[in-house]
Amino acid sequence: MEQHARYVIGTREDSGIYPVAVDGYPAGTVHRRHGSWFPTMPGHKLTGRSTSREGAAELLVAAVDQGKRPTVPLTAVRPHTPRAVDVAHRSYTYLIPSLRPTLPNVVRAAEAMARLTELAWKPLQGYPGADQPWMMECQLCGWEGRRFWSHLRGRNGDPTPRPITRHPGCIPVAEHAKRIAEFAAYLTITCECVAFQHPTHVDDAREILKTLSHSPAATMPYARAILEPCTASSVRAIVLREALNSLTAKK
Ligand SMILES: [Zn+2]
Ligand SMILES: [Zn+2]
Repeated sequence: MEQHARYVIGTREDSGIYPVAVDGYPAGTVHRRHGSWFPTMPGHKLTGRSTSREGAAELLVAAVDQGKRPTVPLTAVRPHTPRAVDVAHRSYTYLIPSLRPTLPNVVRAAEAMARLTELAWKPLQGYPGADQPWMMECQLCGWEGRRFWSHLRGRNGDPTPRPITRHPGCIPVAEHAKRIAEFAAYLTITCECVAFQHPTHVDDAREILKTLSHSPAATMPYARAILEPCTASSVRAIVLREALNSLTAKK
């Protein structure tokens, strides 16, 4: 019988780690140090190393077989689609908002990230607040520069970004709507990311916000859940807002 690897190794992140999915579920990461490859799984101390990336991924498979699962809340992933990975690029360390990481701020940041994705922009730094210049990349042409979130989100209930020109030198304005629609066609209502599962249910979003409020040290992994680019970022922003409302209503 033909043997298929049970793991999928994702794209290298800026920090040098590679996300790994086992049996279609995000399991952890592998990284190289001093010539060896090491596996990591959030919430578990894994022992063992390998001479190869694939060997380290096999150690994650073994950990999964021992019943270990990452402690960050995760739900089922749908089959890998290459396009989803293109959209959800794998760097997240820079996504931490340069605001105090209060729950309202991270939810606001998630909403801003979602809106950027809908408008075919890619953030290149954490959400800085509505009236601060924000470094981002135009997904229509690759231009990089600073834009103001307060302009992109629209004003007074009108969601049309102002100004209507995205930035100097972009493709003709007449083509924007069509190109943005093409881009938006890849957005999904469930997370299709392989290396990490982003919340699209209120219960998952609430768990993440609760953990974040009890343990600010969890900001990094949870910023990933909340802020990392994802084809389902619009749904994620909605469930995070709902989760935040339900948490503050209880107090
Ligand atoms: Zn452009
Ligand atoms: Zn996702």
